[in-house]
Amino acid sequence: MAIQRPKGTQDHLPSGSPKLSLDTRAAAFEYVRDTARRVLERAGAQRIDTPLFEEAELVKRGVGGSTDIVRKEMFTVYYFGDHGGYVLRPEGTAGIVRAYLQGGWKQLPAPLKVWLHGPMFRAENVQKGRLRQFHQVDYEVFGSTDPLVDAEAIALLVEVVRELGLKQVKVKLGSIGDPEDREAYNAYLRDLFTPHLERLSDDSKDRLTRNPMRILDSKSEGDQQLIAELGVRPMLEFLGEDAAAHFAQVQRYLTDWGVPYDLDPSIVRGLDYYRRTAWELHHEGVGAKSALCGGGRYDGLAEQLGGQAVPGIGWAFGIERLLLAMEADGVELPVSSGPQLYLVALDEENVPLAAKTALEARAYARAEFAYRAMKPGSAFKDAERRRAVWVGLIGSDEAAQGTVSLKHMETGEQKVVPVGELAAFLQKSDD
Ligand code: AMP
Repeated sequence: MAIQRPKGTQDHLPSGSPKLSLDTRAAAFEYVRDTARRVLERAGAQRIDTPLFEEAELVKRGVGGSTDIVRKEMFTVYYFGDHGGYVLRPEGTAGIVRAYLQGGWKQLPAPLKVWLHGPMFRAENVQKGRLRQFHQVDYEVFGSTDPLVDAEAIALLVEVVRELGLKQVKVKLGSIGDPEDREAYNAYLRDLFTPHLERLSDDSKDRLTRNPMRILDSKSEGDQQLIAELGVRPMLEFLGEDAAAHFAQVQRYLTDWGVPYDLDPSIVRGLDYYRRTAWELHHEGVGAKSALCGGGRYDGLAEQLGGQAVPGIGWAFGIERLLLAMEADGVELPVSSGPQLYLVALDEENVPLAAKTALEARAYARAEFAYRAMKPGSAFKDAERRRAVWVGLIGSDEAAQGTVSLKHMETGEQKVVPVGELAAFLQKSDD
């Protein structure tokens, strides 16, 4: 058998491929990226890129040493037989904050909005919507703690998914307060869970000493049952005055702008550098447990990475999961047309002339040519399969007179046009 692609990866395929689904169609990825680009760049975000691999230490500090991602899911990069201490990036934020610090972006006007798209890597158990190489769109804002920035980030996310035609989406919004609020909450959780230590999963026993909030995020059913039985109070009840006022302001903006959200007290972010606003975007068609997007404020992250403090907030969605949601909602992609001009020679000796005419026409139109001569009937069939707008035939008469015999594939309109007037003719027919 020919060599297969690695488990948990997907090829992005040309339109018309057998076995094509929306989440494997290259044009669908392009459509999502283009839509995100339009919405985010209209709001002043600049497109950036960071390396696909980073220092393992960066990812460990950025994502958190106690997370599954760091403990179980890292792809390590080896070269020349040596371990370089690098890993493939599992998410975008740590690398972007590193780039911010290393590039001195603090000097740029704040708030600084950037966005990125690209592949991310996690050695997860593979399932539908859970891959080992997947693709994210990331949006991050630096240099402001203003609740206006939080509300705008959420509004932009909602605008992207609305422009993509998604209907059954819900923003679930919470706040995890300031570090001292979280300390109080963790103390409460420690007191609450300690008498039930033996019922917790091994991972959660560990979390109880290190970071009790992360128990609430546990994937273990036993843990979740205990959480339900104990009637755990939500983090929102532990917000201090400042964090509560900030959160109320975020909500006022969202309400004022007509951005729908549901308060979700169960949203937790266990790591120390997360602050205040946190949210997820869910879709009914993709399953309750798998969020389309996660976002939040991470004002303590830059310091965690050894840099100067800078407030930051951002979100990331997985393109594959978004495409699964679009498929569930029955969203159709706009059909892209084929070439505006498809040139076909009627005899072998004019194939090079058809090619040359097409090459020149590419200065003003999407132009292709047939690599072998065809009779008019076959040329029309071929042009139809390729979804061409105009087919242009070049036989010995046309070659002698320097013309092309055009036919519009939809209306059937026919016209002989001198090669020198093709640009003007196609432009006019486009209007
Ligand atoms: P996270 O960085 O874990 O908050 O993930 C942000 C988003 O990336 C999720 O909401 C998903 O849409 C997507 N995502 C995360 N992990 C995977 C994965 N293994 N496969 C596909 N998409 C993923």
